[in-house]
Amino acid sequence: MYEKNELYRNIPKMDVFLKKEYVIKASQEYGKKPVMDIIKSHLDRIREKLEKCNNIEEAEIIVGNLDQEIEKGLTQLGKKKYKHVINGTGVVLHTNLGRAPMPEKAVQNAAALMTRYGNLEYNLDEGTRGERYNHFEDLICNITGSEAAFAVNNNAAAVLLMISSLASGKEVLISRGEQIEIGGKFRIPDIIQQSGAVLREVGTTNRTRISDYEDNINDNTGAILKVHTSNFVMKGFTESVPIKELVKLGRKYSIPVLEDLGSGVLVDLSSVGLKKEPTVQDSIDSGVDLVTFSGDKLMGGPQAGILAGKKELIAKCKKHPLTRAIRIDKFTAAMLEEIFALYQDLDFAMKNIPVLQMLSQSKKKLEEKAIQFKQEMKDSDALITIEECTGVPGGGSLPDQKLDSICVRIKKQGLQPKAVAKKLREGSPALITLVREDSLIIDMRTVFDEEISIAVQLIKQIL
Ligand SMILES: *Cc1c(COP(=O)(O)O)cnc(C)c1O
Repeated sequence: MYEKNELYRNIPKMDVFLKKEYVIKASQEYGKKPVMDIIKSHLDRIREKLEKCNNIEEAEIIVGNLDQEIEKGLTQLGKKKYKHVINGTGVVLHTNLGRAPMPEKAVQNAAALMTRYGNLEYNLDEGTRGERYNHFEDLICNITGSEAAFAVNNNAAAVLLMISSLASGKEVLISRGEQIEIGGKFRIPDIIQQSGAVLREVGTTNRTRISDYEDNINDNTGAILKVHTSNFVMKGFTESVPIKELVKLGRKYSIPVLEDLGSGVLVDLSSVGLKKEPTVQDSIDSGVDLVTFSGDKLMGGPQAGILAGKKELIAKCKKHPLTRAIRIDKFTAAMLEEIFALYQDLDFAMKNIPVLQMLSQSKKKLEEKAIQFKQEMKDSDALITIEECTGVPGGGSLPDQKLDSICVRIKKQGLQPKAVAKKLREGSPALITLVREDSLIIDMRTVFDEEISIAVQLIKQIL
């Protein structure tokens, strides 16, 4: 018993640790409090362990390892819960994985601006107050052909603001085929109700004609809203009215024609072999009064809802009290200028915006990535095969579009794919794979070049 007491006394005190180099370094990086908390929890644990331990040699080892244990424990301070994930699912716009990964240089430029003051709402020419939207409005107008534009928190907010500002207390005509629900509880009927307007359904689920809209126009009609069916397709005996015809009807009765385009695509995706998705430019060309779209879907930028269209209507929306509650922050303002700058040359955007790059990746490129993966896995005893597979754009965009892709299949005697997939999710970075039968699958489309070797290391560690 005497020896054990001595051991207790030999446990270094907090003060001793606070003088150690690795502790000082950690304190400088994360603050003293969380560092001390970790040391204290280790000291508490070691006392408990000693309490239970009756073998003096074992007890000495426990105390001897303390330094090492604490040093290891302190590394957890650098780990974040929200962390880098390697996306092996082939879903390009994965809402659970943060939708669009943004262009690195654009993010660096915008991030650098965050650590200093900036002219966010300051007019440097006049030395007076400016608007946070001024920095990117002209770019949007040049790219889309709209008269005016601005942005709010997300597209759900943009639609809510648009209807609240332009049709509150009035009826909004919407086709029965376009009363959609997008993931995350965005439902058109709820948004209309929330904005104080009255939903007037026209047509039927599968067919709506221009006469269905016209027959429902009355003195209290506030707007005609077209909603892009971003996340499903209707097939068979269907009919819907193109925006161009709605615009004609709106003009005839002096009713604004609005469009929720959902995924704001600014490039013609049919040029890279995908199905044509209506572009923002198409909507503006058709003469729509106001169109809204997301910043972090096919556009490949930050979370935002962009409104573009007629100057007078944009001005009305900006004046609505909701605008202040759903305004973009300064990082988004900077990112929007960065992203729209890339779209000044559509080919350049295609090459430099990750979402568009991934969607347009050639089979050859996908194969090269798979071959690199297989090569780097050579010295493991797993069996790697390269196969064809299909992914999807995801995130409520291009609903009927499959993406022919190339994946790697990882097989090994006795492999428990679900258990391994779970372990890979717990790694740093986390790796999200698909589980098929007795193997793991990684779709190479959504794996960035420099992530291939990292994925290989993560898998080797676990197998
Ligand atoms: C995605 C989507 C929304 C919601 O946009 P968020 O940017 O996610 O708020 C609204 N309408 C349509 C048609 C969409 O596709």
